[in-house]
Amino acid sequence: MTGTATVVGAGIGGLATAIGLRRAGWNVTVLERRTELERYGAAFGIHPTAQSALDRLGVGDALREHAVPYRDAHIRTPDGTSIARLPLDRIERKAGRPELLISRPYLLDALLAGLDAFGDVPVKLGERVTDLDAVAAGQDLVIGADGIRSAVRAARLGDRSGPREAGTVAWIGIADFESPVHGETWGSGRFFGLTPVEPGRTNWYATVPGATTAAELRGFFADWHDPIPRILDTTDPATWIRYEMRHLHPALPSFVATGARPAPVALVGDAAHAMTPNLGQGACTAILDADALTRALAAAPQGREGVAGALHAYDRERRRSAQRTAFASRTLHRFMSTERTRLRNAAVRLLPG
Ligand SMILES: Cc1cc2nc3c(=O)[nH]c(=O)nc-3n(C[C@H](O)[C@H](O)[C@H](O)COP(=O)(O)OP(=O)(O)OC[C@H]3O[C@@H](n4cnc5c(N)ncnc54)[C@H](O)[C@@H]3O)c2cc1C
Repeated sequence: MTGTATVVGAGIGGLATAIGLRRAGWNVTVLERRTELERYGAAFGIHPTAQSALDRLGVGDALREHAVPYRDAHIRTPDGTSIARLPLDRIERKAGRPELLISRPYLLDALLAGLDAFGDVPVKLGERVTDLDAVAAGQDLVIGADGIRSAVRAARLGDRSGPREAGTVAWIGIADFESPVHGETWGSGRFFGLTPVEPGRTNWYATVPGATTAAELRGFFADWHDPIPRILDTTDPATWIRYEMRHLHPALPSFVATGARPAPVALVGDAAHAMTPNLGQGACTAILDADALTRALAAAPQGREGVAGALHAYDRERRRSAQRTAFASRTLHRFMSTERTRLRNAAVRLLPG
């Protein structure tokens, strides 16, 4: 079916959904509250299933132009001893292609270019949605892709679910040299990650309990293995990004409101299932949502019942799966952040390589 839709939010989920809808023949408008798209540079892991979804959305080649494969990464203790390999080989053997890493600005650019190619999908910046009735008037569908504090979710699915702090603070940044090692180093109550992102650079993230300053962060990791102290000492803290780890709680009973008037609503990405970043699946799940929702709509019969049927199909395909991923990510967060390191490391050593 085709129709007219407004997508609220121009993050990964909103842009991917707008592309899928437009490919299916819909008229689409994207509303974004920011006056320009946020372009910070942390790396996203893009799992092969999300790569396939991006291929279906026609942006797989643009992704691969700037993405690097993620291989040979280990879990280490702070002295640098490897205790396990991340299961990247297994992912690659199973999928026939590797996990990729891409910096967020490049992924946004790839999606924006995919949307621009149609020439008729406005992305209206500086449009913060507060009155959903006004936005939904005259539309066949409204997509809430407006992140963890979704106004669309609050207006149509209630405010029972909202952001919940995970109790740790994360810092992220990019260093201007290539780390000789990649993977994650797990200490007591804190961890540090190093991934490739593009030639000559290293993506890093660090997580510590409670509030910290940049100076405290350097102190926390000062005696960890190379290049962790080097990364923190040689990058400018003004370029680091600090944020509280959060997830959506409680999990939503539905990602869709088919009976909403004047137009039905579907949520995608963080609006539907924001998760802690430990499994590196936040962007992947947003892309999978966009692909599933727009495939279901493309296959539906014309009319309001067609939209309702497609939204139910989308909810069936994505809700349990995304919520399982969110739960697993949260569980991994607790496991990685524990202070009972001997028990945890013994369990990690038992993981298949
Ligand atoms: C440190 C870190 C590392 C991560 N690593 C990974 C990773 O390796 N792999 C991965 O897959 N994911 C990762 N993620 C998660 C990922 O960034 C997000 O989960 C993903 O981008 C979800 O996108 P989204 O479009 O749903 O939401 P968002 O990116 O939050 O976009 C929502 C958009 O809606 C706009 N908006 C909000 N309210 C309104 C309103 N009322 N009106 C109009 N516009 C509005 C916002 O300005 C924003 O542009 C990571 C996250 C962090 C913080």
